[in-house]
Formats: sequence, structure tokens, C-alpha cells
Amino acid sequence: MGEKSSKNSKISRKRFIKNGALALGATALVGCQSTAKNETEGININSGKKYQWKMVTTWPPKFPVVGEGCQLIADWISEMSGGQLTVKVYGGGELAPALETFEAVSSGAAEMGNGASYYWAGKAPSASFFSSVPFGMNAQQMHAWILHGGGYPLWRELYARFNLVPFLSGNTGVQMGGWFNKEINTMEDFKGLKMRMPGLGGKVLVKAGGTAVLSPGSELYTNLERGVIDATEWIGPYHDYLMGFHQIAKFYYSPGWHEPGTVLETIVNKRAYEDLPKHLQAIVASACERLTMWCLSDFEARNNEYLNKIKEESDVEMRSFPKEVMDELRILSQEVIDELVASDPFAKKVYQSFSTFSKGVKSWAGQSEKLFHNLV
Ligand code: CA
Repeated sequence: MGEKSSKNSKISRKRFIKNGALALGATALVGCQSTAKNETEGININSGKKYQWKMVTTWPPKFPVVGEGCQLIADWISEMSGGQLTVKVYGGGELAPALETFEAVSSGAAEMGNGASYYWAGKAPSASFFSSVPFGMNAQQMHAWILHGGGYPLWRELYARFNLVPFLSGNTGVQMGGWFNKEINTMEDFKGLKMRMPGLGGKVLVKAGGTAVLSPGSELYTNLERGVIDATEWIGPYHDYLMGFHQIAKFYYSPGWHEPGTVLETIVNKRAYEDLPKHLQAIVASACERLTMWCLSDFEARNNEYLNKIKEESDVEMRSFPKEVMDELRILSQEVIDELVASDPFAKKVYQSFSTFSKGVKSWAGQSEKLFHNLV
């Protein structure tokens, strides 16, 4: 570097630091103004009015990680608000049927709900993009899109139609490909395969010549054991171990191409949310944000531990899907997505944002995470 460019570099660095300091000062100032504004706006902030909310969930009561997470949100909200807002958590079926969580919160029968957006794809086809799509983005990429890539405004716009406010509040991380009693070596092996596979992944399986079965979780073990189904996906090693699939399946395949980083959501009734004073709204948002990190980290830590238990305690064979099979499933997945996008104008709008961000972030991952993972 020449003397001149070195000098320029020093000047621009100086400017950068100076501007940065100014920007920080400005942020602090805005912060003060914002607080003052909120205090005047939130006139009921010190009214002492108490709020008692109900939370319905798609999970069985106290279901590991995700069900436990719902109780944590309730505990944190109560703790942070000093008891001004309390939330009583109901497992699926306790107050509303698990898959009617969306309607229950939309109608105001409960103020909060917890689940994953692809459960509501029947009502809003574009909802799938806010949870997970086959060969889509992983957890950190999904979070980047939602928080910093245009995902949140679209998600809020979609849910506002249903009188709901969505919050990112967890992620399963990359799931497993599932438990099989027959090997998958070529695409031919999917022909006639009966597999429990929900959502868009199920549609891909059908395109490949298989049958997507939607058994409830409680029947999966028996169905797989008795040969009613040939295979099932569930979540990852921790939950799969608790289901006992390693005792009855021959092969455990990875990766979960159909769910590379499933986002979990908390939904809040829009009217109930807007009725809250500002500081309680901030507490709800903050509890969801806190749960996002807790949930993804819990999955990551326990999946490792339980994958080892599966390997130690069973004779199940660990397998990876062959590359040719993945390439073919990726093509079929794109067909399923194209059909979805063609069926719904809002899905087209969401997919435009999703796919543009996905392309960019994967290019970055190719220069960073991917190279790093290849080293370890
Ligand atoms: Ca799954």
C-alpha cells in the first residue's frame, strides 16, 4: 500500500469512527425520545390493570422442548411483567383441538397460541414459507430472512388478515430424513412406499410415486411396527428416541431434506395485543425472542446426546440418502413449490422474497459455513 492510499485509508477510518460515534449518539438519543413517547402513549402503564391470557398449543401437554418452551414463555412473561400479564398454557386438545390453535387465537377464544405456520397452509397457502419448505433454508438462514431479509413484514401482513400477530419463537434445526424398513437406493424405491410425511414434503413423496400417510403421532409406533407404513419422519434424534422408533426400524436416514430448519411460531390475537400497554407488548415480543434461542439450542444439544444413545442402544443402521435421490427430490420439490406459487397470489409475493434471499444467503454460506463444515 502506497503512502497516499495509506493516508486516505487512515482518514476514512477516522471518518468512519467519527461517524460511527455520531450514529451511536443518535441511536441513544432516539432511544430516549422513543422511551418518552412510549411513556405518554402507554397511559395505562402504571394503572396496575392485570391481564390473564390463555395460550393454546399444537403440542401434547408438556411435550419435550416445544411444549416445555410454551410454559417458559408463560413463566418469563409473568416474571418480566411482575405478574401484570399472566399466561395459562393448554396442551393440544385441552382447550382447543391441536390443529385448531390458529382459529382459537384468531377468534379470540385464546389470546395466544404456539405451533408452526405450515399447519395452516390449508387456510393460507403461503404460510408454509414461514416454517419450512423442502430444500429451503436452515435455521440461521430462516431467522436471517424473517428478521433482516423482509420475511417479518410479509408474515405480519398475511396473519393480519386473520386478526393475528406472528412471532418467531423457536426452530427445530435441521430434522432427520426418517425411519425406514426398506433401503432407499434409487428413486424406484419410493414407488409404493407408504410413509408418514406431512406438508409439502408429503406432496413431493406423492410425486415420487409414494403414498403420504398422515397418522397422528400417537399411532406412528404401532403403524410402523405392524407394517401399516414402511417409513416415518418425525423430528430429530431426541424426539425420535422418545418415540422408540430405533426399536422397530432398520434404517435411520439423514438429512431431513423436507424440513431443513423448521421455524416455530407464537401467534397473538391482534386485538388482545393492541389492548396491551406498550411495555407488556415489548415483554411478549421479548419472551418470544428469548425462546427462539433457547429452543434451537436445546434441540442442538439434545439431538447430539440422543443420536449417541440411538447408536449405542440399537442396531439401527445410519444412512444418508444417495446424491442422485436428493437431486431428483429437489427437482420434484421445485415442482411442488411452483404449483403452490401459481395457486395463490400472496404465495407468489412471499416466494419472491424467500427465493431471492435464499439464493443470496446460500451463496454466502458456500463461502463460509459450507467450507468450514467440510473441514470438521
Ligand atoms: Ca418433521
